[in-house]
Amino acid sequence: MKLYIVGAGPGASDLITVRGRRLLEEADVILYADSLVSEEHFKAAKKGAEIVKTAGMHLEEMVEIMKKRLSEGKKVVRLHTGDPAVYGAIMEQMVLLKEAGVEIEIVPGVSSVFAAAASAQAELTIPDLTQTVILTRAEGRTPVPEREQLAKLAAHHCTMAFFLSATLTKKVMKELIGAGWAPETPAAVIYKATWPDEKIVRTTIGKLDEDMRANSIRKQAMILAGWALDPDIHEKNFRSKLYDKEFTHGYRRGVNS
Ligand code: SAH
Repeated sequence: MKLYIVGAGPGASDLITVRGRRLLEEADVILYADSLVSEEHFKAAKKGAEIVKTAGMHLEEMVEIMKKRLSEGKKVVRLHTGDPAVYGAIMEQMVLLKEAGVEIEIVPGVSSVFAAAASAQAELTIPDLTQTVILTRAEGRTPVPEREQLAKLAAHHCTMAFFLSATLTKKVMKELIGAGWAPETPAAVIYKATWPDEKIVRTTIGKLDEDMRANSIRKQAMILAGWALDPDIHEKNFRSKLYDKEFTHGYRRGVNS
C-alpha cells in the first residue's frame, strides 16, 4: 500500500510537476485540502476518479479514508498546495499512515514563495545585498517557538517570506521595525500568485498593514520583505560572481586569472 503526497504548486494547474500530473492522471482517489488547490487539476483525473475534499475533516477521519481506499487496492493521491514540505501538515498524516503499514512517496511542488517571487519578478538573493531567505510565519493562533520570534529572525536583515500572515501584518511591522528595519524597507504582497485573480501590491514595511487593507487582502497572500524587493533594484547594479568576467569558477576561467 502506497500513498502519494503530491505538491500541486501555487495555483495555476500547469505549475504542477510532470510527475505530479502523471500521478493525478493515474489516481483512483484524489484527496485535497483547501481553497488553495485549483479544481482545474481535476481535469487531468481519469473518468470516475473519486475526488474528496478534506477541508471539513479532522486528521483521523481523513487518514481512515486513505487507509480504506488503499486497502481496496486503489491508487490514492493526496494533493497539497504549493510544496508539501512547508506548512503542509503532512508529518501527522504520515505518522498515522506509516503505523498502518502504508508506504509514502512525496512529490515536490512549486511553493508559493517561489511563485510569488516569479510574479514580482524578484530575485530573493541579490549579490552583496543578501544571500539568505527566511521562510516563516507571524505568530497568531498557531504558536511559533520563542527562539524564532520575528524580531530575532529579522536581526539578520535578509529577505523574509511570510506565509499564513495576511491578518497579522501589524505584528510583522512592529517586530521588524523593532528589530531595526527601516520603515521604507520594500515589501511585495502577492495575493493568489498564479491564479487568474492574482494581485501584486508593492509597499514598504511601514505601510504594509495600510496597503493590504486598502487592497482588501486578508488571506491567501505571500509577503516578501527586504531590500531585494526594492522596485529600483535594477538601477543599483548588483552583480553576481557567477557572471563576473574576472571570476573563475568550475565552469569558466576569469579573464585575469
Ligand atoms: N505548502 C504551501 C503553503 C501552505 S500554507 C506552499 O508551499 O506554498 C498556506 C499559505 O501559503 C497561505 O496563507 C499563503 O501565505 C501562502 N500561499 C499559498 N498559495 C499561495 C498563492 N498562490 N499566492 C500567495 N500565497 C500563497
